[in-house]
Amino acid sequence: MSKNWYPIIDYDKCIGCMVCNDMCRHGVYKPDEEIRKPKVVYGNGCVHGCHGCERKCPAGAIRYCGDDGTIDIDYDYDTYKPEIICNGKPRVTFICVHNSCRSQMAEALGKLYASDVFESFSAGTELKDRINLDAVRLMKKLYGIDMEETQYNKLIDDIPQPDVVIFMGCNVSCPDVPSQYAENWGLEDPTGRSDEEFEVIIRKIEKNIHRLKKRLL
Ligand code: SF4
Ligand code: SF4
Repeated sequence: MSKNWYPIIDYDKCIGCMVCNDMCRHGVYKPDEEIRKPKVVYGNGCVHGCHGCERKCPAGAIRYCGDDGTIDIDYDYDTYKPEIICNGKPRVTFICVHNSCRSQMAEALGKLYASDVFESFSAGTELKDRINLDAVRLMKKLYGIDMEETQYNKLIDDIPQPDVVIFMGCNVSCPDVPSQYAENWGLEDPTGRSDEEFEVIIRKIEKNIHRLKKRLL
């Protein structure tokens, strides 16, 4: 299986909307004036596991390729194991916009279930003054964790350089945070939603934490 990958575009499906070019912050795409569609010009810039452009492409035109140029049909996202070079346990940082809700819950569940395999941090691209109160209440109810005791809101610059970054769901664009491996969990922000909807997101985070733990073992 290839360790590196990059997107390829099926031009029979592509409608030239440029969504992939607009959202990728890694310079992978460039518009081509002649064909009026994007071209992949910097495949090495693609963050393995981001899936951002693939998720947003309205035409289902994007697939990924292995580093030998062949379509990576053997790639199995569930069992993929990245090679992380670090001293000690890898540092995993969970990122969402305000570091108030999804990323805080992921940090707490990472510490609860995976502290023997990786160190958990969370951060945001902007700051709110406190952790979401519904998230605090439900994490206490479901896991007995008091996030207000153990965690606080942080910016990306306030935490150590991550080995792995997990984007909780970049709705607008693909953030640019360097790491050796990245995933985008594509989770909706449950802020303001009912407890039932909140719990669905929490359980998804818990499931993803267990998968990430196996991946980094
Ligand atoms: S948006 Fe993400 S998956 Fe798509 S090319 Fe850029 S880094 Fe790769
Ligand atoms: S997002 Fe999909 S349809 Fe739009 S330009 Fe990119 S590959 Fe083509």
